[in-house]
Amino acid sequence: MDYENIDIDSVLADLNTSREGLSEEEAANRLLESGFNELEEKTKVTPLKVLLRQFANFIVWVLLAAAIISLTIDEVVNFWVIVIIIAFVVILGFVQEFKAEKAMEALKKMVQPVTHVVRGGVVIEIPTRNVVVGDIMVLETGDKIAADGFVFEIQGLKVDESAITGESMSVVKGTGDLIFSGTQIVHGKCRAIVTAVGMQSRLGMIAGMIQENEVRTPLQEKIADLAKSLAIIALIASGLTFVLGHFTGAPTEEMLIIALALAVAAVPEGLPLTMTITLAYGMHRMAKHNAIVRKMLGVETLGSTTVICTDKTGTLTKNEMTVQKIYAGDEFFDLTGVGYDPEGSLLKDGEDVEVEKNHTLGMLLKAAALCNNSSMVQRQGRWDVVGAPTEVSLIVAASKADIWKDDLDAEYEKLHEIMFTSERKLMTTIHKTNEGRIAFCKGAPEFVLEKCVSIERDDGVHELNDDDVGRIVQQNTELARSAYRVLGISYRNLPEGLPVEGSENELTFLGLVAMIDPERKEAKDAIALCRQAGIRVVMITGDNEETAKAIGKKIGLYADYDGPVDRMDDKLKCIIGDAAITGSELLSLDDEEFDSVVEGVSIYARVMPEQKLRIVQALQNRGHVVAMTGDGVNDAPALKKADIGISMGIKGTDVAKESSLMVLQDDNFETIVEAVKRGRGIYENIEKFTTYLVSRNFTEVILIMLGITLLGFDLIPLLALQILFINMFDEIMPAIALGLDPVRDEVMYEKPRKPGERILKKRNLLLVVSIALIMGLVCFFVFIFSDPVGNIERARTMTFATIVSMILFIPFVFRSLTRSAFSVGLFTNKLMLVGVASTFLLTLTVMYVPYLGNVFELVALGPAEWIVPISAAFATLFIAEAIKKILASSGI
Ligand code: ATP
Repeated sequence: MDYENIDIDSVLADLNTSREGLSEEEAANRLLESGFNELEEKTKVTPLKVLLRQFANFIVWVLLAAAIISLTIDEVVNFWVIVIIIAFVVILGFVQEFKAEKAMEALKKMVQPVTHVVRGGVVIEIPTRNVVVGDIMVLETGDKIAADGFVFEIQGLKVDESAITGESMSVVKGTGDLIFSGTQIVHGKCRAIVTAVGMQSRLGMIAGMIQENEVRTPLQEKIADLAKSLAIIALIASGLTFVLGHFTGAPTEEMLIIALALAVAAVPEGLPLTMTITLAYGMHRMAKHNAIVRKMLGVETLGSTTVICTDKTGTLTKNEMTVQKIYAGDEFFDLTGVGYDPEGSLLKDGEDVEVEKNHTLGMLLKAAALCNNSSMVQRQGRWDVVGAPTEVSLIVAASKADIWKDDLDAEYEKLHEIMFTSERKLMTTIHKTNEGRIAFCKGAPEFVLEKCVSIERDDGVHELNDDDVGRIVQQNTELARSAYRVLGISYRNLPEGLPVEGSENELTFLGLVAMIDPERKEAKDAIALCRQAGIRVVMITGDNEETAKAIGKKIGLYADYDGPVDRMDDKLKCIIGDAAITGSELLSLDDEEFDSVVEGVSIYARVMPEQKLRIVQALQNRGHVVAMTGDGVNDAPALKKADIGISMGIKGTDVAKESSLMVLQDDNFETIVEAVKRGRGIYENIEKFTTYLVSRNFTEVILIMLGITLLGFDLIPLLALQILFINMFDEIMPAIALGLDPVRDEVMYEKPRKPGERILKKRNLLLVVSIALIMGLVCFFVFIFSDPVGNIERARTMTFATIVSMILFIPFVFRSLTRSAFSVGLFTNKLMLVGVASTFLLTLTVMYVPYLGNVFELVALGPAEWIVPISAAFATLFIAEAIKKILASSGI
């Protein structure tokens, strides 16, 4: 249907609804009929896709080649063992990756969008997928539009339609215009009647083009590259072994089998898989702690964060505002009571105040309640509030003086609103009274004062002079220094014919309202932890500088020094510590100047949201990895630019959430720090399992090379099948256990990792090579001391048993790459205990199950014969620990 040029009532009638919205039953019926308001997902993970992905792996191809070669040279048993290894790799990969994908899907669902609609005359919040044709959407700045619709009841509406048009300029909309699903409201408010949902919407028609697809993270790429390089090294090493064998007179075919087995053993099959599991599990754990990482990339970047830029209100503070002081008519009044309960009194010098006798105070409270979009209702004895805490606190304050917003709304019909925005820091409403129109304006005091020409006291209205302004500014500063958030309140009786835009001028000042927003107690510890971890915390707030500093001091973010007032001098001083600057001061600095001071600034106050982008850029220019929080539409560019954009789950807009890498479910600063800690832990675990896997993979290569060159082919320490068998079981379980190792608290005692650092950095590489060498050598010694000339089968069994016994100890070495395994605690990773024990027992079956023993040419060792392999493996643990210690103390 074409809705252009049709008036809203006929559209409502057409869609069989009214301004009261649909009834719940009708909506439910329509939902049943039309299905959910969602796009068909083309990129949905299917088991087949995940299975096929397992074969897009270089390692699997190496294994397949080995299997085919075994078959062509008639080594049937070898062939089957390799096939089983491939099946093992593919099935395990499939199961784990599928699980990880499902977990990711579940995570995405945790930040499922919601939409406000009118149903049965009441505004309610519903999941966006439940929106149906005929619903009336109630939309405001920052909302992502849930469905196509026809707008009415509009207030300064601007929509960003780039999602469907590619056009980056936002579009101004008027009554009767269409808005489209998937686009975003960047300014204003409106109601809109839904005309099309899901695949019928314009977005649905072009859906395929814009579906988001998770790309692999740099770290996953890095691991895939590493695995590939290692596989190539494995091929070269096994080729070399083959050549060595050839020159020492080994029979070509047998030597080929050994070389193949070695190639298979040295290929790090488990590496990419363990990586995915570690990242996916890490994300899952973070989500449990209220940090939803929207892209895997976030997990690894978090760990290298060097600066966290955070909002104040709601993140460092509780965003639970309570008005405690009012300054009106040159007098101070106190309000008692806590929270949003209207129980409390209005006092002056400890005595109850009658509002009727304090005209200015009464007018101020009325203005505060009327220039206000919040509401409170009593339900079963409890007060339920809706709206921004700043505004709620004002209606609660008014109610303590027995001034009720509901009564006022009936008396003062609201005609218009000039919305509050973080840029303007003002809000004005225009109302109709018997005497004419009146405007009420509230906002940041200095912004309100700028618009005032007069001041009201109980004896009447006077011209606002410099003394008055000085006094008000002074009171405002004093209140802010005590950590109060202060609003200025004013009004104007509007002359007839004055347009709406003119109503926010020539105001009469009424007074100041001071509300307390207690700091989050946990923020103090979290900030202290950041300092310890070499992470700088910076507060960026729209609030007053003094309020910001006062809160900053309480939570240990800001240490005041009574420096000179001159900001330029401060610049030099602030290198060591905490400077506070305001948005307008920031404006006066050019990029070079700003770059030179940015390291020292801990507080940015009265900031415009778009200045956040500049702050991120300046910090990034200095080489920082920046995490930045935000909630509004205007925060989106900064969130995108930051290395880790963090949006607020509670007060954040859809736009902010979509621009961020991580969503904080509880808006709490502590959660960011916890996520950084986990990010660090996860990276550390990735280093651990990578070094473990690589050193493990090359042990057999070293052993066989030693055997072939020093003893010759007949005395080769392990047979091809034995090598393959060890390889099949010994690596994956301990590697996964290392990947999921609990995060140590001490990760926050260290400095942030350098971005771009290699996993196998010099230190780790030395560790890997030396431990692989030691393991290879120890096995070789066990072999030559087990009388290989007298009983080769037993000597090989002893060597086999030594390698298998190492599984019991060596994984523990890798639980820390710097500290001793004993100080980490041997029993602190239960999964590791289960992993090593089960791997050990599984490997034993081949020795003790009679038929298998014959196939693998192993003898069943008696209990006493295990003393040598186990002691040798145990000794390896100590040698490996010693190497670790030497590397740590040499400072590499
Ligand atoms: P942040 O969350 O970034 O720490 P903030 O929430 O204090 O900061 P804004 O919401 O942008 O920042 O508010 C900036 C200033 O605007 C406040 O200090 C207050 O003086 C004023 N203000 C806040 N809310 C309103 C409102 N609803 N109406 C009028 N003025 C407001």
